[in-house]
Amino acid sequence: MRQLVVLSGKGGTGKTSVTAAFAHLASEGEYADKFIVADADVDAANLELVLQPQLLEEQEFKGGQVAVINQDTCAFCGECQDVCRFDAIDYTDGLYAVDPIACDGCAACVYQCSTESIAMYEQVVGKFYVSNGRYSPLYHANLYPGQDNSGKLVTLVKQRARLQALDEDRVFVIVDGPPGIGCPVISATSGADLVLIVAEPTISGVHDMHRVLQTVQHFGVQAIVCINKADVYPDGADEIESFCEVNGIQTVGRIPFDLTVTSAMVEGEPVTAFHPEAPASMAISTIWAEVLESLLEGEV
Ligand code: SF4
Ligand code: SF4
Repeated sequence: MRQLVVLSGKGGTGKTSVTAAFAHLASEGEYADKFIVADADVDAANLELVLQPQLLEEQEFKGGQVAVINQDTCAFCGECQDVCRFDAIDYTDGLYAVDPIACDGCAACVYQCSTESIAMYEQVVGKFYVSNGRYSPLYHANLYPGQDNSGKLVTLVKQRARLQALDEDRVFVIVDGPPGIGCPVISATSGADLVLIVAEPTISGVHDMHRVLQTVQHFGVQAIVCINKADVYPDGADEIESFCEVNGIQTVGRIPFDLTVTSAMVEGEPVTAFHPEAPASMAISTIWAEVLESLLEGEV
């Protein structure tokens, strides 16, 4: 069983549109009922907008801990507020209370309170879902605003998808990864067999691609690159391809800027299903064939 993770150095590069199109194309190929999709972009999950899941299972996801003050025993001394390095304890109308968004869960206030009025509680920071997606089982999640622990939630989404794939002898999992280079990206990259980076030929896009490449390579995962909206700035696309060539990284194609992608999004469909003959669809189909070949190399 192989895992493909689709990444981008930043949001808005078309990563999710490419992933949704891959899910559609996979459903029309040799491995139509042999793959699973996971949306690991838990901070801003939107693959479900295109893959229209029918919910099978929903679970609360508990993250870090948060402090809660018992007002009945509090002596209103203010020492907890003094010790809190995160400014998470407010004093309003004569009462001390913890702001759960600002609380880091360090528990310093618990040790400081002489009346034992503060306790730590696990907090629900998001939800995890298993669904029947349009083309395959879909594992997805939603981290609540302002919460951290997205790396753990990414790991949960990926692990559950992987377990089902192994149980049912499926051939691959397609993971829509988070943008950026932080903890959730590391969680998404961990255990992957192949990462496809969707790069944009802008100055910041090239810079972000370099950063995400470094992250992926640090973990010893093979990375390949495709360029989205390549014709918007051909010099930038050339620069990306030259960089990849020099560094021994395979580039698997250019996707042209195509308003059909936007129209498909408005209709809630992968562009390859919405208009298979559109320039972007044709390019993504070619890229998918290359990606699949690299993903399954030596496996099946
Ligand atoms: S340290 Fe304890 S007693 Fe003092 S204000 Fe905070 S919760 Fe109340
Ligand atoms: S647990 Fe830490 S961050 Fe949260 S209120 Fe107490 S001292 Fe502040």
